[in-house]
Parts: sequence; C-alpha cells; structure tokens
Amino acid sequence: MLIILRLTYLLTKPNHGTPMNTKEINMTVTTTELNDLFRYCGDIGMFATDRPINDTENHTGSCDHRTDYCDDTCYNVKLYKMYPNMSKRDDRCETIWQKLDKTNSDFTDFFSRKHKDTSRVRHMTRGEAFKKAIDVYRVKTMCLLNPDQLWWIPTRAWRDTRLKALIEKELMPLDNCAVNASFDPSNTDEEWKLMIDSDWNIMFYGDDNLTSDPVYGKRMFKCPKTWKKMSGHCNDCKAGCFAQKTINRTQIVHLSEH
Ligand code: SF4
Repeated sequence: MLIILRLTYLLTKPNHGTPMNTKEINMTVTTTELNDLFRYCGDIGMFATDRPINDTENHTGSCDHRTDYCDDTCYNVKLYKMYPNMSKRDDRCETIWQKLDKTNSDFTDFFSRKHKDTSRVRHMTRGEAFKKAIDVYRVKTMCLLNPDQLWWIPTRAWRDTRLKALIEKELMPLDNCAVNASFDPSNTDEEWKLMIDSDWNIMFYGDDNLTSDPVYGKRMFKCPKTWKKMSGHCNDCKAGCFAQKTINRTQIVHLSEH
C-alpha cells in the first residue's frame, strides 16, 4: 500500500519537468532584482532580459555558441566600452538569472503591476539564454509558471547538437515559447539545411542582399521593424519571429542591417 501511495505521489507531484530543483532550495528574488533583470525596450515594445556576452566581475560570459561573424560585428562590444555600467548590470543580471528556479519564477504579481504591455517578453537582447542545459529547464519553468506571457528567445544554442535536441524536446511543444535560430552570413549551407529541415523559425541578419535561403531558395520574410522602421512592432508581429506560435508556420525572418 505504501509503495502504491509513494508511486502515486511521484507521478502526480508537480515538478514542471525540470530536474534543477531536486535540492528544493528557495532562493528569494526581490522585486528590485526583477526590475533590474526585466528592462523595458521601446524598440521591440516589450520587456527583455540580458546576460553578459563576455566575462564580468563575477561571471563567465554566456555567448558560448557565437560565430566568427558575431565576434567581428557585435555592436554590443562597442557599447560596453562606451557605457561601463552595462557590464556591471549584466553581472547583476547573471547573478539573478542563475538563482531562477521553480520557487521564484512565477512573475504573475510582478508583471501585473506593470503599466506597459507584458504579453510578450524576450530572452535576451544581448547574451545567450541557453548557455547550458540547465538554462533550457530554467526557461521551461518560466514558460509553465507564466502562461500569460509569450516568451521569445532568439538563440545560437542550436549549434550545439545536445542543446538543439533538448530545446526541441522541452520547449518547442510549449504554446507560449517562440524560439528562433539566429543565423548570419558565416553559417554554412549544411547548417541552413539542418535547421530548415528541423522546422525551426530562423532569424537571419548580416546581408541585405540575401533574400532567400541558400539551400531551398525559400523567400525570406522581411522584418517590418528593421525594413519599414516600425519601432515597437515586435509586440504585435505575427508573421515574423512569432510565426511558429501565432500562425502555425515556420518563417525565415530577414533583419535589415540599416
Ligand atoms: S520579424 Fe517581427 S518580431 Fe521579428 S524582429 Fe521583426 S518585427 Fe520583431
């Protein structure tokens, strides 16, 4: 009888599918910290997080899956030099990010107090959301505990075979998680084929003259924010980065350089 009860408990216990809470340590995240982590970005019309690109005072950088093109062109590198406080904030954000687990990732009250729209939230505007496998579970926990938000995550973690498979298994089935594979001109035809064949929504940046994918010749979707200068449009956009979740179709989104 005891065994049956124990089995029933294990099968019904809500764990949100994440293995990261086995120690059940409750780490408090204050409202001040959440205000630091989620900053409002007018150009995309939503709240967004950041992680450090390179090493900071207390943390290692998150962009482990970056390409040579990232190293050559990332505009944040220049901004870090102009605004030293950026790196300090990234360091604080990383501390908060690493604390997030199922005991502190229900942001319902926090978002309900915001005057700006919180129906869509982005990870990240700089840095990589999925540096390691634990980040996939971290994001999954956030999605499950905050079903009123549509979480948008452009990522280069697809370049890691294990992370790609984990994202497909844990996040792709979620209704409120829009994952985009970030692409640039350094990506190979094999990589284009792999990700198109894997049905990922793709976000391409770095060559305004490339208007269709190099493998199947599928026409890219011109991002309204960057091509038509529609600032804040990401919050309403259906046919671009959110297409997989809003119109049930994958898209190759083309961001203009200018
Ligand atoms: S395609 Fe839509 S969601 Fe994506 S960056 Fe452009 S405006 Fe924003």
